[in-house]
Amino acid sequence: MCGIVGYAGYRDCSDVLVDALSKLEYRGYDSAGVAVFENGEIKVCKAQGKLEMLRKKMQEEGKPQGRVGIGHTRWATHGEPSDINSHPHSGAKVTVVHNGIIENYRELKEFLSAKGVEFVSETDTEVVAQLLNYYYKGDPLDTIIKTISDLDGSFALGIIFADYPERIYAVRRESPLIVGIGKDENYIASDVPAILKYTRDYYLLDHDEIAVLTDSEVNIYDIHKEPVEKTLMTADWDESAAEKGGYEHFMIKEIHEQPNAVNMTVKPRVVDGLPNLEECGITHENIKSFKNIFVVACGTAMHAGMVGKYVIERLAGVPVTVDIASEFRYRSPIVGEGDLVIIISQSGETADSLAALRLAKSLGAKTLAVVNAKGSSIAREADMLVYTHAGPEIAVASTKAYIVQLAVMYLFAFELSLARGKITEEQCRELTLSLLAVPELIGKILETDLEKSQYISTKLLSADSLLYIGRGLDYALSMEGSLKLKEISYIHSESYAAGELKHGTISLITDEMPVIAVATQRSLLEKTVSNIVEVKSRGAMVIIITREDFTIDEKAYDFRIDIPSTDDMLMPMLAAVPMQLIAYYTSVLRGNDVDKPRNLAKSVTVE
Ligand code: GLU
Repeated sequence: MCGIVGYAGYRDCSDVLVDALSKLEYRGYDSAGVAVFENGEIKVCKAQGKLEMLRKKMQEEGKPQGRVGIGHTRWATHGEPSDINSHPHSGAKVTVVHNGIIENYRELKEFLSAKGVEFVSETDTEVVAQLLNYYYKGDPLDTIIKTISDLDGSFALGIIFADYPERIYAVRRESPLIVGIGKDENYIASDVPAILKYTRDYYLLDHDEIAVLTDSEVNIYDIHKEPVEKTLMTADWDESAAEKGGYEHFMIKEIHEQPNAVNMTVKPRVVDGLPNLEECGITHENIKSFKNIFVVACGTAMHAGMVGKYVIERLAGVPVTVDIASEFRYRSPIVGEGDLVIIISQSGETADSLAALRLAKSLGAKTLAVVNAKGSSIAREADMLVYTHAGPEIAVASTKAYIVQLAVMYLFAFELSLARGKITEEQCRELTLSLLAVPELIGKILETDLEKSQYISTKLLSADSLLYIGRGLDYALSMEGSLKLKEISYIHSESYAAGELKHGTISLITDEMPVIAVATQRSLLEKTVSNIVEVKSRGAMVIIITREDFTIDEKAYDFRIDIPSTDDMLMPMLAAVPMQLIAYYTSVLRGNDVDKPRNLAKSVTVE
């Protein structure tokens, strides 16, 4: 979590740092701060709360004036969000910003305390600052190497030394970090969007590599102080991809970007009307050899895996287990040679998913990463890789990244089913054609269902709790609908398999418990409608999301949202959209900070 940035160049450093942090604020917003060399001295300005509080403080007290500095936006792990715990943290000669967790910070703190070092904050980060300071004898590179050898855990660090006012140092282990290359200016950042306004060229720093930057030079060393040659990467997004572009929030912008994201993800992987994932390392030969498939992921990505499970099992007849990454890694999973483990992660840096990937590899399974962020750790470590092309997703609540994860699940399932001879080439072509048509149908929903969803949100505002129900794929999808609502509207909700309700949960139904029912599967329609009638007759206000071609007794629901029809199997990609809209408008109407919901951050790089 958290965003770190650094700048050495000719511009006003405080302005650049705050601007770059504004593109990373989705990663954490408990506090923000900068440290800038002003007339050769390190000047720190930091404030609890969102970046706006730092801006305000800079306006009131004056911003640090200089050309070289580092900045941070925090998602607190050690020590409450407060001014004191905000980054940057300093020792006498060193100031740092940190993303990650230092697992052995207690013993290091004891060690330093015994040497007379005094600490002002509760953070693990201050221990790093003080340890750097303790080892510092005039050579920053030696100091960093010695310090990181003592650290356990994850870190991306931006470091400045009081004696070297022209330079920024940066190093990482597990947490992501890039080095942006400009003309007469250079950057560090946790993620590409931070620097897109200034440059699209960057290096990806590897584990334990150390970057030394001035305005005109970037040198990268390994842990033995040997220079490292890096490949220059170029971002294929431009700055506008990380701007709101006239929308009120990133989330609604990203919902509208879904048709394009699906096109970008699917079209290049269709050759002669059939899915083709060869460039991702997936061939007909290797795909059909797997005995079992596991999908391991967290949050929304795990929900994409649930849809994948239903589709793969139904179509290809291969057993699929979906696991929450933080459970998978500690539950001794029965995985081994001949199995495929699919890791889904938007950021490609999700700590638990990365650990699950490594575990799967160590057990002898093959791994496939479905990742949005180019060059991320999960992307680099997996045996096979399918990039989703959603572009940068800034809103904490995922929308377009989820939709393209679904798209990849379908491509994979279609190819697998064909390779296993479970569907004919003709059927595969038809399914693929339907998938290619999804972007247009999402576009239609965005034209027709916005107002309806907004209206329905007004009916949910005062609810304390909600149920989402569905069967089969509708159930898998409703898990994501429920998560979306609770993470940004703060209304409690649960998703339930509709047939399971009467085994306990139906006792919660009163006229104060709205129910959102998803009914898009032809073969399950009658059964789902029976369940809907059961909750309706017990007083629930029922909102049904269904296909325009389904006839359903009007007495079964209070509100109906119609979506266009396509193959049953693909319906989740369409039904997801009104769910996203309902969550979005409910959050807006409740006056919440839609893009930055409380307690959350995007890109969960801690356990
Ligand atoms: N562990 C550090 C803290 O609590 C950094 C957390 C982060 O990555 O934002 O301050």
